[in-house]
This record gives sequence, C-alpha cells and structure tokens, in this order.
Amino acid sequence: MSALLDVKREFPILAQSARGKPLVYLDSAATTQKPRAVLEALRRYYEEDNANVHRAVHLLSERATKAYEGAREKVAAFLNAPSIREIVFTRGTTEAINLVAHTFGRTRVGAGDEVLVTHLEHHSNIVPWQMLCQSKGAALKVVPVLDNGELDLAVLDRLLGPKTKLLALGHVSNALGTINPVRDIVAKAKAKGIPVLIDGAQAVPHLKVDVQALGCDFYAFSGHKLYGPTGIGALWAKAEHLDAMPPWQGGGDMIASVRFEETLYNVPPAKFEAGTPDISGAVGLGAAIDWLTALGLDRVEAHEKALLEKGTALLSAVPGLTLVGTARHKAGVLSFTMEGIHPHDIGTVLDRQGIAIRTGHHCAQPLMERFGVAATARASLGVYNTEADLEVLAKGLTKVREMFA
Ligand code: PMP
Repeated sequence: MSALLDVKREFPILAQSARGKPLVYLDSAATTQKPRAVLEALRRYYEEDNANVHRAVHLLSERATKAYEGAREKVAAFLNAPSIREIVFTRGTTEAINLVAHTFGRTRVGAGDEVLVTHLEHHSNIVPWQMLCQSKGAALKVVPVLDNGELDLAVLDRLLGPKTKLLALGHVSNALGTINPVRDIVAKAKAKGIPVLIDGAQAVPHLKVDVQALGCDFYAFSGHKLYGPTGIGALWAKAEHLDAMPPWQGGGDMIASVRFEETLYNVPPAKFEAGTPDISGAVGLGAAIDWLTALGLDRVEAHEKALLEKGTALLSAVPGLTLVGTARHKAGVLSFTMEGIHPHDIGTVLDRQGIAIRTGHHCAQPLMERFGVAATARASLGVYNTEADLEVLAKGLTKVREMFA
C-alpha cells in the first residue's frame, strides 16, 4: 500500500525537530498545521490589502472587503450552500453553535420542549444546549452510543418526538472518529418536521460536505481544523432561518440604522456579524479551502482511509493496547488506552520521541464516562501524515510499554 498524497513539504512547521527528533504531528483533530499557501495569503493580505471592511470608499478598504466577501463565496461553494447570504463568519464551531442557541434556540425552545443531542458530542455541542434548556425549562435528551462508538439509531428514532425542537449532532466524532450517517439521520428528523444542526468541525477536513444533499438546517465548522487560521469559522444556515432569527450581538455592521428610539437591523449575514470581523482569518480560510479543493477531497479521503487502516493494524498489534471507538465508518482518529499506563504518561513518553498526540477527555467527558475511562490517548491524522509517521508511532508505543512494563 502506498500513501496517495505527498504534501508534507508544503507545511513549513513540519520540517522541524522536536526534542531532537523529527517532528511527527498526530494531533490534527485538535488543530491542523497550515500549508505555505495559507501562510502566504495571510502575509499578502497584511502587506497589500489590510483595511477595515464595508465602511470606506478608499482603495484598500475596497480590496479588503473584496477579499473578505470573496472568502464567503469560497465557503459557500465549499459546502454547496445555495447562497452566500447563508454563510455567517464566526470565531469557529463553538461560536456558531452558540449563535444558533442564542437566536434560533431562544425563540423556538420553550418550557416542556426538548433538544436532542448525542452521547458522542464535543462539549461545544452540549453545553450551549444545556444552558438554553436550563433557562427555558426545556429538557436535554441524549441519543446513546453503542460499544463500537456508533449511535444507537433505534433509540434515536424513539427520541425524535413531538416535543423535539432541534436535533444537534456531530458529523464526525473528535474523540472516536465515528462518521455518523448524518444524511439518514437528517431524513428521519425532517420527516417529523424537526430542524437539524450539524457540528461539522471534524468532517470538513476529511469528507466532501454538501449541505443541500444532507438536507440539514445548520452546519458549523472551524477554519483551524481545515488547514486555515485560528479565530475564524463559519455557520451555514438556511436563509429562512437567518431571516427569522433575531440578532444576538449588537454593534457596528449588524445594523441598517440606529436611533435611540429604535434600531433597524441589517439583512443576513451582516445581521449576525457585529463589529470588525476576522478579515485576515477569512482570507486565510479562503486560501485553505482553495488549497484543499485543488488537492481534491476524494483524494484526501482515500489517503486518510489508507492511513487509518494501516494505523489500526499497527496499534492493534501493540500488546495491552485497546482501541476505543471501532465504528464501521471512521475518519482518521485512533483513540486508545494501554493497560496499566495512564494516557498522560503515554503522551509524555511519545513527546520525548518527537511524536505529538493528545491525551485527555478531548472535550467529550460524557463519552469518556460512557466508555468507563477518564481519558484516552488520541492520534489523529491530517493530509500531511504518512505511513512512516504511523510506524514511528507504533515504535514509540513499544517504548512506552517497555518503560512501564
Ligand atoms: N466540535 C467538534 C467535534 C470538535 O472537534 C471541536 C474542536 N475540538 C469543536 C466542536 C469546537 O471547535 P472550536 O474549538 O474550533 O470552536
């Protein structure tokens, strides 16, 4: 088997040594590294175009506005959104979900209603709904997860009921890598008239996403997990929702006119983008989308699938290692525990060998509790990873065992 992609050289940060060893970066589910194309787009923006957007007639402002709005067009095309008006820039997935909770949620969810999430969710797709439910006297319901890390779809069917005002679920689990059958799940919810929000933070870097084919109402993602900068992400929402939703943050740009007696709000997406946005972030995100699209998401998917298979085989052969999350459809996440060794010790020993993985609860404490562990060690893959990286990891884990045996 040969890896299909060879792009590591395009990531300057990966050329360095860590602890005197060649850096092996296996923490892309936390954040991805950035290709030169993104770094150059950021530098070019600040060297040539930097100005505030939307509010001036001068040349630089015109260029900055064009760059910012151009990035919105790229996000819309990337998700196959019907209109650029449906793309709201946010700080990331967390802010996008909070936006929906504070606007759509605040107006749609009342006492006695239910919001449905799943046991696989990241905290950012649990806590905003929990806060909303608490403030409204509504109930948070949870779709259980099976032992292999797949959702219990039979229970999901039963939980989608007349009181359900929203289903909020992840496309891909950051902690286990499970790819949920979101298209089928959305169809089930929509058949009962229930709106669906999808947390796509871990999906967009790995899979081709088409919001129209999915049929959902909201889709959220973060730029930094997509080879773009931190501090920028997006919410796609159906125009009918954005039109009906009240604004949440007030300030510049989100208004049509302000008088002390009354303020009239701007149309979406500006209605939801108060204040100076992360212009350079959007430019960087646009460059990341261009870069990934040129690479081809089907090739990315094939590359990561091949690596995941290789990694699964290598890790399964390590004595005393248990993979947590063995769903039939998985993205590039290898979550595991080792008998008698604390995950933090695994991470520390690997770090000394230049291998970067993540250990902890991965912002999914209910899921960890479900699997009876406080934490796991997690190696997660990106486009730049190679078979050699996984071999280094497997050797590193053998060392971990030797040290603690
Ligand atoms: N959802 C999932 C599935 C995630 O993996 C993450 C990030 N780990 C988030 C939401 C939150 O993303 P951000 O911190 O970029 O807002």
